[in-house]
Amino acid sequence: MPGIGIPSLASSLPPIVKRNYGRWISHEHPRPGVIKHDSESGEACFTVRAAMPPNARVSTSTMRMLCGLADEFAEGFFRVTQRNSIEFIGVPEGRIEELIARLAKQNFPVGGTNRSLHNTTCCTGYMHCHLAATDPAAIMKAISEMLHKEYTTDCLPAKLKISGSGCINNCGEGSCADIGIVGIHRDLPPVNAEKLKGCELPLVISVCPVGAIKPKGPGMVEIDPKKCIHCPACSVACAAFAPIGSPDGDGVAIVVGGKAANTGDGPAIAKMVIPYLPNNPPYFPEITQAVRNIVDVWVANAQPDERIGEWINRIGWEKFFQKAKLPMSFRLVDGYDARSLEYAKANVRFRW
Ligand code: SF4
Ligand code: SF4
Repeated sequence: MPGIGIPSLASSLPPIVKRNYGRWISHEHPRPGVIKHDSESGEACFTVRAAMPPNARVSTSTMRMLCGLADEFAEGFFRVTQRNSIEFIGVPEGRIEELIARLAKQNFPVGGTNRSLHNTTCCTGYMHCHLAATDPAAIMKAISEMLHKEYTTDCLPAKLKISGSGCINNCGEGSCADIGIVGIHRDLPPVNAEKLKGCELPLVISVCPVGAIKPKGPGMVEIDPKKCIHCPACSVACAAFAPIGSPDGDGVAIVVGGKAANTGDGPAIAKMVIPYLPNNPPYFPEITQAVRNIVDVWVANAQPDERIGEWINRIGWEKFFQKAKLPMSFRLVDGYDARSLEYAKANVRFRW
């Protein structure tokens, strides 16, 4: 039955997965970037994982090349993981090294498993989002190059996930990664009186999460600079508030200690540790150096299997800031706990 919606799962499964569906009993990592799954049937399934480009964007010719490798080495199937890696599943054990060499020739590094940097991910940012304050894909490329060894070897205390978002809407989920790069605007949105005529003022006013937009005479509004948190919500609702941001004002914040999984200390929202770094393409040295510093301090001090947030939970945030030589402020690490009441009262969507 074709059914309605996405293609059936059964048509997308490699034969070895179909044969052993639900019968897997264990897995191990024979080498970085390779996972071996053992089935109760006695079969072993080898998976080779390689990093895709930021935001998993590839041309049709690259996709054809990858499809060719899947045909040759993995019975014609592959999958793209949640972190934008490509996995060739069911590779014969004796052909793993050959596949890795073929991928390396095409600049697709194999790794991202076990105690390594798992592939970096990000939202679309400048590529086609009008709200972006930075270019997360370019930043992820720069970070991936800097941490190439960390991706291709198991040299870290635990897995490391780095995610980027072009603005504080956080579509790239930086706040639930070990290290998150989050684009920030620092300028007030423009208010274009002509374009405002095409928008419903009550809607425009109510869309602001902190009540910063106020009526100012007939058909006009003003923005309270003390309240505005530079989220792009008004810019989405009405063209009068676009484009938001400026080359000099925009940049990124660094957040650390986030985690989505229920393992270890459980899920956590990352806390901001660096409030602003400038956009400095193409290699974003301020951002990559900040990430390098946090990774190095974590590697030097964490116990085996401690993700960054778990390590910080053990030693405390104050010590983290000392070890990372970062200026500490309660505004950075309060995690919205101490001021949650203040925030909740300020949010016009929250009915008190
Ligand atoms: S996080 Fe911001 S820049 Fe990135 S896709 Fe979402 S809205 Fe656009
Ligand atoms: S919606 Fe966001 S950017 Fe617009 S005025 Fe409110 S806080 Fe500022």
